[in-house]
Amino acid sequence: MVGNQQAKRRGTQEQRIAQAKAKTDALRPEKLVCGACKTAFTDFDAMDTRNMKGIRAAFGGICPSCGETVLAFSGDQDAVADAMIAWQDAMGSEGKLGMQSRGSEHIPFED
Ligand SMILES: [Zn+2]
Repeated sequence: MVGNQQAKRRGTQEQRIAQAKAKTDALRPEKLVCGACKTAFTDFDAMDTRNMKGIRAAFGGICPSCGETVLAFSGDQDAVADAMIAWQDAMGSEGKLGMQSRGSEHIPFED
């Protein structure tokens, strides 16, 4: 049942941020896998995807073994492909990108 208090709280920015965070946390993979050296690591951050159409969540971190930037996108297949291309363009040949399967398993990107 939605009371006055709850309805009011739902409209606040804090609440929206909390909801967005909960959604992102739910999509967060257990680990990212470096596309260059296959190291799996868990120290990575969620990225802002508000301007990325069709992307539900994105995560990025630095491989602890080789220093590669590792990114994972979760979202519509086409949107994920577009996002990867955009990131590759932005990062030049430096970036190794990965993607998440529907089962939230991280798939390393390979050339
Ligand atoms: Zn690596």
